[in-house]
Amino acid sequence: MCTWTLENFKCKRDKKGCDSRLRRTSATRTKKTRNEMSVKKFGKTEKRRAVRVLDLMEKAVTTETALANISSQDPSSPSSPFRVLISTMLSARTKDPVTEEASARLFSRFPDADSLSKADKNTVSSLIKPVLYYNVKAQRIIEVSKILVEKYGGSVPDNFDELLALPGVGRKTANCVLVYAFKLPAIPVDVHVHRISNRIGLVKTKNPETTEEELAMLYDKKYWVKVNELFVAFGQTICKPIVPRCKICDVRPLCNYYQSEVKTGKRPSSS
Ligand code: SF4
Repeated sequence: MCTWTLENFKCKRDKKGCDSRLRRTSATRTKKTRNEMSVKKFGKTEKRRAVRVLDLMEKAVTTETALANISSQDPSSPSSPFRVLISTMLSARTKDPVTEEASARLFSRFPDADSLSKADKNTVSSLIKPVLYYNVKAQRIIEVSKILVEKYGGSVPDNFDELLALPGVGRKTANCVLVYAFKLPAIPVDVHVHRISNRIGLVKTKNPETTEEELAMLYDKKYWVKVNELFVAFGQTICKPIVPRCKICDVRPLCNYYQSEVKTGKRPSSS
């Protein structure tokens, strides 16, 4: 897995293959060159449009994601970052309501890293079932809890590279922990964020890593903590994967997909 990080532009390297564009550019960028690239790639008009899209989404969205719900439950508790980390790991390819229910069952029995690190794998599997790959995820979250106890005294690190080093934690999960547990600026890119930002035409990218890179250039840092929550909630309720609900969507005037595909009758939309 690529360990390129947006913040320091370094790739600690993987053995299986790294996106060559990211690798080629990552080692040599400085903060100054990133800012220059940002200005060059996205002008004021594109940046203003992107902020307008975010504002419209904020007005349209009336629900919260599972991670927002979980992180808002007793946010000052020392185990809050742990719950966000574990729930994010459970959420991979799993619908939000299933993740929330599985997390609630798990944390009622194992509320912190210490207790989960000593848990029996079959017990954990049965608690988190039916999240997808519940056996693998049970093993992983126990392993992660052991590392948190041994290396961090049961706490969760608020550092991207340390999070990424945990087994089963990829870029999206690490960024989710930074945003939802620590309110630090990061842009977790999942299928919703990738799909919607490309549909609207905010970015033109082929994979989530590049989407993350481009959104970070498009949006000023003060907006980063909002991006995942708004895009995901918007994707769950309005800009749905198969048939988006364009008829009720206020982003239409700014949306490339609507203008070129839906308005012209090439693709369906629903209300
Ligand atoms: S107009 Fe349609 S495709 Fe565009 S953002 Fe809205 S729901 Fe998605």
